[in-house]
Amino acid sequence: MTKPNLELYLAAPRGFCAGVDRAIKIVEMAIEKWGAPIFVRHEIVHNKYVVDELRSKGAIFVETLEECPSDRPVIFSAHGVPKSIPAEASARKMVFVDATCPLVSKVHIEAERHYSNGLQMVMIGHEGHPETIGTMGQLPKGEVLLVETPEDVTKITPRNIEKLAYITQTTLSVDDTIEIVKKLKARFPSIVGPHKEDICYATTNRQEAVKAVSPKVDALLVIGAPNSSNSKRLVEVGKSSGCKYSQMVQRASDIDWRALKGAKSIGITAGASAPEILINEVILAISSRFNVTQKIVETAVENIEFKVPRILRETS
Ligand code: SF4
Repeated sequence: MTKPNLELYLAAPRGFCAGVDRAIKIVEMAIEKWGAPIFVRHEIVHNKYVVDELRSKGAIFVETLEECPSDRPVIFSAHGVPKSIPAEASARKMVFVDATCPLVSKVHIEAERHYSNGLQMVMIGHEGHPETIGTMGQLPKGEVLLVETPEDVTKITPRNIEKLAYITQTTLSVDDTIEIVKKLKARFPSIVGPHKEDICYATTNRQEAVKAVSPKVDALLVIGAPNSSNSKRLVEVGKSSGCKYSQMVQRASDIDWRALKGAKSIGITAGASAPEILINEVILAISSRFNVTQKIVETAVENIEFKVPRILRETS
């Protein structure tokens, strides 16, 4: 049977970012340096495949520090942790390595700087996401007011509207955040913002590439995990940029082939924590059912790399 023709548009950049790459390296190097088991507080990055691979190498994933014995090293995930966590690890004299992405740490530093200048913070972020918990946990309780939607802006009651600053989660929708910032500035004209957006380069670039691909395709597949904020945003951006069928798949077995029947073009992208091996798996599965012509839609070139912490670069 002849396979139907299909144009496959690959968004670029897609997949792993520098922060995820570094976090995975940190776990691998820690296992090499100290041997297994190495404890990791929270999924190092939000991807089941990555977590399972590291687990098979000797990582044990836990949600709280109490679950870690004091005599084994522990790693904090790329999303960042509240200040109380390294403090608790130090009090227990634990060896710990912080795999917080440097771009998340940058937001933490920003929050502290504003706080020391006497400003109360508004954080634009998703409630319950580990990055939001970690960033809010840099300052004492009550110093960070969380807003998730433009409507939330009308509900917050700052201490002093003249002394306010805003920060954001790094993996938000660029367009939705612009709307929230507009509302904040309208209600609190003196609010201070970051010089450059807190939304990171990887989130911005992946969303831009999806905006370029979506109008060209009948369907968009986002390889990512349901708990990955930046992957969820890519699905939304796909829809808002003109692709009616924009769907997340964790891997090829999740593809709903009935929904893709009759498609003449499909777009592919992947969240910042989705490994290349899963992207290739999806491309291969599509190629087994369609006669594929691949096209790359590149909107940015990335060459960012982050160093791993010194403790892992030292030989002893
Ligand atoms: S998505 Fe952005 S902030 Fe998150 S780990 Fe990657 S580079 Fe860092």
